[in-house]
Amino acid sequence: MNTEPDEIAVVGAGLAGCLLACFLARRGHRVALYERRPDPRTGRVERGRSINLALSERGLDALRRIGLDGQVMADALPMRGRMIHPVAGEPQFQPYSAAGDRAINSISRGALNNALLSAADALPGVRTAFDHRLVGLDPATGEMTFETPQGKVTAAAPVVLGADGAGSAVRGQLLAYGVLGESLDFLDYGYKELTIPPLGGDFALDPAALHIWPRGTSMMIALPNPDRSFTCTLFWPTHGTASFASLTSPAAIERHFATHYPDLVPLAPNLVDDYQHNPVGVLGTVRCAPWQAHRVCLLGDAAHAIVPFYGQGANCAFEDVVELDRCLDERGEDWAAALPLFQARRQANAEAIARMALANFVEMRDKVASPVFQARRRVEHALERALPGRYVSQYELVSFSTTPYSDVRRRVRRQHRALGTVAAGAAALLAGAVGAAVTRGRRR
Ligand SMILES: Cc1cc2nc3c(=O)[nH]c(=O)nc-3n(C[C@H](O)[C@H](O)[C@H](O)COP(=O)(O)OP(=O)(O)OC[C@H]3O[C@@H](n4cnc5c(N)ncnc54)[C@H](O)[C@@H]3O)c2cc1C
Repeated sequence: MNTEPDEIAVVGAGLAGCLLACFLARRGHRVALYERRPDPRTGRVERGRSINLALSERGLDALRRIGLDGQVMADALPMRGRMIHPVAGEPQFQPYSAAGDRAINSISRGALNNALLSAADALPGVRTAFDHRLVGLDPATGEMTFETPQGKVTAAAPVVLGADGAGSAVRGQLLAYGVLGESLDFLDYGYKELTIPPLGGDFALDPAALHIWPRGTSMMIALPNPDRSFTCTLFWPTHGTASFASLTSPAAIERHFATHYPDLVPLAPNLVDDYQHNPVGVLGTVRCAPWQAHRVCLLGDAAHAIVPFYGQGANCAFEDVVELDRCLDERGEDWAAALPLFQARRQANAEAIARMALANFVEMRDKVASPVFQARRRVEHALERALPGRYVSQYELVSFSTTPYSDVRRRVRRQHRALGTVAAGAAALLAGAVGAAVTRGRRR
């Protein structure tokens, strides 16, 4: 294979890999973008593979830097809050922000990937190689082996950046060479997608909300698509009662949905077919260290895949790219200095959002339906209005700012401590007042 000696290799033309190719090419680097799949712009779509995703401020910030935000946002569907669907009764809307004006955006994953790929392709110095599955990598020399329809080919690069997703082959090679350790924590839950088609040519549900059916130990969510359909995602236990494994026959599937998701049934005519034919995806957290060894570095899901319950995996992967770009700036294009700096700056942030995402699963599937949780959210929004900029909710900081994730956790803990002090002070004052009243009562 023909490779240029100074060509940086990016493995994986997914969301992070394509964005990275754009950033690197803008810095004047030559980039080879290797992807195991055929060119996705040729039209083949995998069934049931996370069709849409929620893009928020961190992802948008990255897209703005390469001037792609306008194009991507043209088809975005802003969702200003959660619509909670109880088993019985009317859905309730819970706004994301105090003023109800801030929104996360439902975006087609395929359209976003294609937009990034075309943007990368259009830049001078970017070469794309589809149908190239990385199967071998020597981290010390940068020599790579790919399986292609024509057989195995090799290539070499001075720097290899692994943006090949949660099951990263680049990470696997670093592991095989003994230069990296990893831990994979899978949930006992999987996910499966279903479709709500348009109803009479329009959205069957309110498209300005992310819909949630919280059911205690499991849940379903639905995000709108530009074609006026919704993609629902079931997050259910993989095994045990009321799990993907236990629910297989058409009659049992129909019964289960009629009992637990009754308002979905009339809206989803292909429910049983979708359920029976769409795959169950796995959910887990990938942790590894170091992210960087010799001339190889991981980023995006390859370095730190997280569970999807905060809608931040892609946003976080985009932030990685922005940070790597910043590190190259600060270290004057010296990769040997920039890569360790990148890891040092991003690792704690990846861990922080991994933990928040896991915690958000409990919030979404269970707490959002509780009156106590709803009252707490109202108090939080009241505090945000009363103390603008001084009290900011965790959701707001994660989704509507670029505050580093680890600072978000610290700040939220600080706010809670301060509120605890205020509450304790108020309680003490109240106790004092009650005590005085009791004493006065006794004297009378
Ligand atoms: C159900 C679900 C819902 C989600 N919802 C959201 C959301 O709302 N918001 C959000 O921000 N994130 C969401 N995410 C997370 C998001 O999808 C990921 O964080 C994001 O795709 C990571 O991007 P990436 O480029 O690192 O990896 P990927 O998008 O997985 O891209 C990896 C690329 O590498 C290629 N590749 C893999 N192996 C090889 C190989 N050996 N050789 C060459 N190429 C290879 C793959 O084909 C792919 O193109 C969700 C995830 C799931 C599962």
